[in-house]
Amino acid sequence: MIVILEPGIDKSGADYTAVMDYLTNQPGIQVRVHEESGVHQVLTELYLVGDTKTLDSEEISALAGVERVVRISQDYRILGRHKDDNRSTHFEYNGVTFSQDNLHIFAGLCAVDNPTHVGQMMKVLQEHGQVVTRMGAYKPRTSPYAFQGHGKECLPYVFELAGKYGIKVIAMEVTCEQHVAEIQETLEQTGHPTGVMLQIGTRNTQNFELLKAVGRQKEMPVLLKRGFGITLEESLNAAEYMASEGNRKVIFALRGMKTNMGDPHRNFVDFSHVPVVKRLTRMPVCIDPSHSVGSRESSPDGLMDVFHVTAQGIVAGANMVLVDFHPNPAKALVDGPQALLISELPYFLEDCRIAREAYEARVKNIHRIRPA
Ligand code: PEP
Ligand code: MN
Repeated sequence: MIVILEPGIDKSGADYTAVMDYLTNQPGIQVRVHEESGVHQVLTELYLVGDTKTLDSEEISALAGVERVVRISQDYRILGRHKDDNRSTHFEYNGVTFSQDNLHIFAGLCAVDNPTHVGQMMKVLQEHGQVVTRMGAYKPRTSPYAFQGHGKECLPYVFELAGKYGIKVIAMEVTCEQHVAEIQETLEQTGHPTGVMLQIGTRNTQNFELLKAVGRQKEMPVLLKRGFGITLEESLNAAEYMASEGNRKVIFALRGMKTNMGDPHRNFVDFSHVPVVKRLTRMPVCIDPSHSVGSRESSPDGLMDVFHVTAQGIVAGANMVLVDFHPNPAKALVDGPQALLISELPYFLEDCRIAREAYEARVKNIHRIRPA
């Protein structure tokens, strides 16, 4: 059960104290306080754990200072959508709004290699009105002998170039708590020229200590990749770990699943789950066409599979696209064969716009016969 308090409630006031006294005196019930910082005010939510069936929700709703009571219908208490739950489906970070109702394209380098390529990529993004990108500094690789990313050495120039080209958010994978600290320190040292969305890769979806660590810091949002060999429910619970530690700025990414059926793509594309995740949770949903498809193969219509699956995800309502580009894929240190060329960026952005327009037209169409 979630008890949502009135916005901006004074935590040292009589109403708050009376509600807490009432709830903490219920036998077998524990109360966890969760705060959500909105644009104008702080929302306080109380999560009741234990045998909540015995609680009288009408009596709790009637207490002064209580706005609403929501009965929880599944495990993802904070990030899930529950019956009569109208908590927000968006958040803001560094001036950018992430929502179940909008779309951002995070085009960029799978792995940072040198300042020239980072600068070339960011410059072209700025020329096309983009304020977000992806830049991998820490790369988890299958082989211990493969390039592991430049790590913290590259962070100062990546952040400074981002500032130069007006990039507000960089999606960047971290594989341990130390990486989070290095990112925070470098942002501090460089004067916060940009912001970072911490990415948890598919190999770390159930690295619970890492999830708790990125959840404990509440400043940077987190992009959680779906685990490639676990159930959707297990991956959604992984997202809840971060929220339960206090950071509910989480985006859920679909990136294809491992199968042993000889797929034509690197992973089995799972973008039909975009609307499923939006129905089950309040998280914006990202798709990663590059790591799903894993090549630059085209179909006879001339469109690359990467373009096709991106459009399929966007037409189904995706809110973010994480996509590999490189100024010179032949020289890329990681995942060159799946990277799109800088010259392809305008076509890719236009294809995304067409697909988004189709999604919006589809929503409008259904609302004509079935108002929201
Ligand atoms: C990536 O986005 O660079 C990446 C390694 O993705 P994944 O964790 O989905 O394999
Ligand atoms: Mn990659």
